[in-house]
Amino acid sequence: MLDITKRIELINALLKQDTEESLTYAALECRLTLEYLCYERFKLYFPYLSKSDLSTWKPKHIIKQISEQIDHNVSKEFSVSISAEKINGRSPATKEEYESIAYTSLGTQSELKLRKLDKLYNSLARVALHIPVPSISSGDINIYGKKEIIRKKVEDVISFLSDIKGNLLMGGSFGEELSFNCLACDTKLKRPIKNLQDRTVLSCINPNCVESYLIEKKNNSFEIIRKVIKFSCSGCGEELVVPARNFQELRFEDRLDICCGNCDVKSKVIMRPQLITPNS
Ligand SMILES: [Zn+2]
Ligand SMILES: [Zn+2]
Repeated sequence: MLDITKRIELINALLKQDTEESLTYAALECRLTLEYLCYERFKLYFPYLSKSDLSTWKPKHIIKQISEQIDHNVSKEFSVSISAEKINGRSPATKEEYESIAYTSLGTQSELKLRKLDKLYNSLARVALHIPVPSISSGDINIYGKKEIIRKKVEDVISFLSDIKGNLLMGGSFGEELSFNCLACDTKLKRPIKNLQDRTVLSCINPNCVESYLIEKKNNSFEIIRKVIKFSCSGCGEELVVPARNFQELRFEDRLDICCGNCDVKSKVIMRPQLITPNS
């Protein structure tokens, strides 16, 4: 877990130097700290969410996506306590019984105020980490932003960081989960059932695996369909099955070689636009 006090000390030391360079560096350290705060929470949700399924790398959006698809507690404040106490030799069964036993506190997760974090994150870049594109009326080009404006933003971040007091982070979800093992690499994939839409695409969380699955809600159960694209081998006609994610990063005219396991002939697939007529 990130040592926020240390980060604040480092940023304050740069503020004290009070040069254009040190203030710019302080702004960069602030941005890295804000990224870290989001990514360390994302790390706890690796078993649920593949990096390939992230809609963007931006820190706030990653946490928002976890909140919507896995568990909304990712950015919330809560405390965790545990107890091994029994009632008449058995585990408590009712709410009243759970409330009647003694607990040991494990710690508290701090709230991550995402709107504020995102605002600070963007404004640091605007005031310190980019040179504005010049225009006919903008005058000289300066390497550094305005010192006092950068200082104000950095102080806002220090104040934001100082409010984060938690000593614990927790990942995971409460409630029923759908889980299955990847057909190719056997990694366990899972999602909380309450957050599954009618059709959800889920990529394998193993970074070396290109499989993905379509989860379709059918009445009260879920159908898990491996996402593949099928071709016929140009040598022997055998069906070639290629994981759909192999095509995701391809661009116009990119080629993919597919080697047939049956006859060893290489077939080439080329990415090209296709016109689909209403009757085709
Ligand atoms: Zn896999
Ligand atoms: Zn073949």
